[in-house]
Amino acid sequence: MDIIGSYGRASGQEVNLDKSSIMFGKKVPADVRSQLKSVIGISKEGCMGSYLDTKDWHLPTLEEFFDPEDISLIRSMPVCKTSQPDRLLWHFTKSGKYSVKSGYRLARELLADVEYGPTCVALRAQSWKLDVPSRIQHFFWQIGSVTLPVLEQLAFWGVRCDALCKGCDALCKRCDAAVETINHALFGCPRSRRTWEMSPVALDQGGFPYDSIYAHLDFIFWRASSQSEVPDLAIRLPWIIWSIWKDRNKKVFQGIELEPTEILNQAANDKLLWEEAKSYSAHYLESPPSMEERGPFPRCLVDGSWKFTVPFQGLGLWCCSGEDITLLLGARSQRRSLTPLHAELQALIWAMASLLEAGVGCQTFETDCAELVAMVQTPDDWPAFSNLLEDFALLRTSYPSFTLVRIPREVNVRADCLARSSRSLISESSFVNSFPPVWSTNLGVLF
Ligand SMILES: [Zn+2]
Repeated sequence: MDIIGSYGRASGQEVNLDKSSIMFGKKVPADVRSQLKSVIGISKEGCMGSYLDTKDWHLPTLEEFFDPEDISLIRSMPVCKTSQPDRLLWHFTKSGKYSVKSGYRLARELLADVEYGPTCVALRAQSWKLDVPSRIQHFFWQIGSVTLPVLEQLAFWGVRCDALCKGCDALCKRCDAAVETINHALFGCPRSRRTWEMSPVALDQGGFPYDSIYAHLDFIFWRASSQSEVPDLAIRLPWIIWSIWKDRNKKVFQGIELEPTEILNQAANDKLLWEEAKSYSAHYLESPPSMEERGPFPRCLVDGSWKFTVPFQGLGLWCCSGEDITLLLGARSQRRSLTPLHAELQALIWAMASLLEAGVGCQTFETDCAELVAMVQTPDDWPAFSNLLEDFALLRTSYPSFTLVRIPREVNVRADCLARSSRSLISESSFVNSFPPVWSTNLGVLF
């Protein structure tokens, strides 16, 4: 207490003991409590509940009815501060809103689990992680779920292709020598094999090409990069397979045949174009907003910091009246919420409440989270956040010209520092003042 007193006299920011309270754990006996209270000079007991945060889960009830694992999950869900009817949420999208794409994907997975067993689920899931355009991801998903429309598959579905073929329904149109399965079309057919012979994959070493399409997917997804001398083989393979499939379609539907070198050149070209398109859009989408696009001062920069392995999340706010002039700042640690995006929204709500409480007239908020901006613009599209968005809507009525602007991450260092440093605290705490809390002053960020 002497140190805090000296600090208070030196900084001019003294602790108001009448407005402070101490929170004790359940096991602290009454005599120890009163001793501590008299030593510290604070007489009130209670938690440091801040603005708005008056409702929470009733822990004894949870402990009575749920497993500890479920309790921590339940407690990470923010409680609605106003009374709202229950709503249904869709758990297979980030926003909580149903999309046909996510429903279709789930239905296919549920069906396929029964048909092919659990290992294929991982193969199919990996298709969506490939760094290729979505139509090629979908192509790989079709391979993994054995729904690529090769002739054997069409015959199995009962689709007659007499218009396409001369004789047998399922005989490969390129070699006329075998039934066209997926594996035959992409790897086994002599025409495909000639392309593979000229490709950077070392044939017959380690068994490539394999008899099973699943072994091929396993190789492409997980083993190619470690088992091959060619450094970017894993990145090139999907493009080669896609190119072979396009060549197969040209032959079947138009009767055109390309040379193996042309097929490989096509793959390399497609890959190059995709990479150029990606860097072009990254350049234009990620370019920082100019100063004119940012709102007028004062501005309040907010950030949330969330990590799955840490029980607390950190919130940060830095409100400034000029480039480097601090008006108000805040750092808070609280129980970890469901997702990083929840933490971002909670940081914004807490900042809005704190500014109101401190009487700071600031209408411009800034975040480095694009999804937060989208959420505030179209709250109905984000039902997974509806509880928090209700709180936001209530607070927003006190901000007649509220704006939320996206800024680059590197401009948000102060709010990020306040949030990140608070995440590792060992208990819930909240700090709002014109100078930074001790725990955030050793990270090299100046306020
Ligand atoms: Zn063939």
